[in-house]
Amino acid sequence: MTLLDELSGFEFEAVMVEVFRHQGYRDVERAERIADEGRDVTMLDDGTVGDDSVSDGPPTAVVVECKHTDVVSRPVVQKTHSAAHTYQYDGPVRAAIATTGRFTEPAREYAERVHEDPQDVEFELIDGEDLIETGESIGLDLYNGTVEIVCEESIAPPTDRETLEGYLESAATDVANLDEWTVGATLTAVRFEPVLAAETAVDAKFETDVGVIHEVTDRERSVLDGHGEIARSSDDVAQLVDATREDRLSIDHQSLEGAYDRTDVERFAGDLGAYREWLVGDRQDRHETTVRYTGDNGVEYEQTCRPGPTDVSVESLDPVYLPHVAVATSLGEYEYELELYAAGGRTLIQDAEFRHCVHCEDDRMHVGSHPADASEDNDADREHAPTLTYCANCGAIACPEHTETERLVGEPVCTGCAVTGRFAGATKHFYDETNRETFAAAYAEMPIHRKIRENDGLVALLVLVVFIAGVTAIGVL
Ligand SMILES: [Zn+2]
Ligand SMILES: [Zn+2]
Repeated sequence: MTLLDELSGFEFEAVMVEVFRHQGYRDVERAERIADEGRDVTMLDDGTVGDDSVSDGPPTAVVVECKHTDVVSRPVVQKTHSAAHTYQYDGPVRAAIATTGRFTEPAREYAERVHEDPQDVEFELIDGEDLIETGESIGLDLYNGTVEIVCEESIAPPTDRETLEGYLESAATDVANLDEWTVGATLTAVRFEPVLAAETAVDAKFETDVGVIHEVTDRERSVLDGHGEIARSSDDVAQLVDATREDRLSIDHQSLEGAYDRTDVERFAGDLGAYREWLVGDRQDRHETTVRYTGDNGVEYEQTCRPGPTDVSVESLDPVYLPHVAVATSLGEYEYELELYAAGGRTLIQDAEFRHCVHCEDDRMHVGSHPADASEDNDADREHAPTLTYCANCGAIACPEHTETERLVGEPVCTGCAVTGRFAGATKHFYDETNRETFAAAYAEMPIHRKIRENDGLVALLVLVVFIAGVTAIGVL
């Protein structure tokens, strides 16, 4: 039992329309369902689809009969033959029958005779087995329970680990004292997210008895989200897909193995027909407008002009994956993940834990009032934002409010891991108990005026401590 078996005849035609569009036929249309005249679908072949060589003449019109039956016999072939003959078209015509089943021998013989007669139309028979092959070659899985989009192509992700680590390094530059060499990738993953790059054209003219009152000629490239409910991708994702549309890589490319610890491929939620339908409806909605005009009788009229479904053509609908890359690193007790779309040499950061203080994650960098989702604004704001600081003691990345200076070594320490001590009424921060005790010992040795001065937060005590330590060491020797 396969998908094609389960379809109704009408649905089978719809699937065939998608198949033909994908094969490169132009103006693929289903015939009005008034009477079965032996043609369910009509379309044009510019010479790029059929096996005949490209000619300079007009494109070949193809008249297709779709038969969702186990067996197609000679009378069906004859009917399609005459439908091709009577088809009104000023140029070469081809007859075709597509079936989920098979053709009887007499049916095949009849079609072959017609096809081989140079005076007659070309005749093409497509049976169930041909359909499986065709489906595979154009990426439609016709036999897998749904009319699933089978897509093997992704906008090229980086294929080496160095590039991924490079992303970490540049994210690390957001942190004042985090040297890039501290940061190495502990886990890399890529998730292939389904998107569809579409090109649509609207060509509509609205006429009344006073003539044309409104016209729409518009062409648009858009990108649709391929998982979940059909919707447009965000503007920045659409720009990324559009700018990198030529840069493709097969998702089972071996070289991905070296770069990524994990690879996931998400499925396309809908079939091409559903995306196409959505696009048409969306373009109709967007171009619907109300027009006022004055009639011959001098009366003002108002008319709603909405392009019809046939005024919208989906010129291309290209399923492709967009690589969503995650690179994780660990610093001390903390794990940081960087998530970005990395495609065709471009990147679009989705989330960077390097840009958050670990002690107040929700209140991002304490910057007053910027929206966390507008990435461009964030970049602008980041210049004014207080710098995040790396705590070498525990690995935290912290905002100024959660960063102090370690009293003994003079390096930043975060409030999360620091131990504190009170000296002359001031709170001092230390990496640990040992540093606090070392400082306490040095403090005890200080003359009173030094104690006061030191505790006003002047020069780091490190030099003094080293000196004392040195003297102690010499004493021991
Ligand atoms: Zn903080
Ligand atoms: Zn810390």
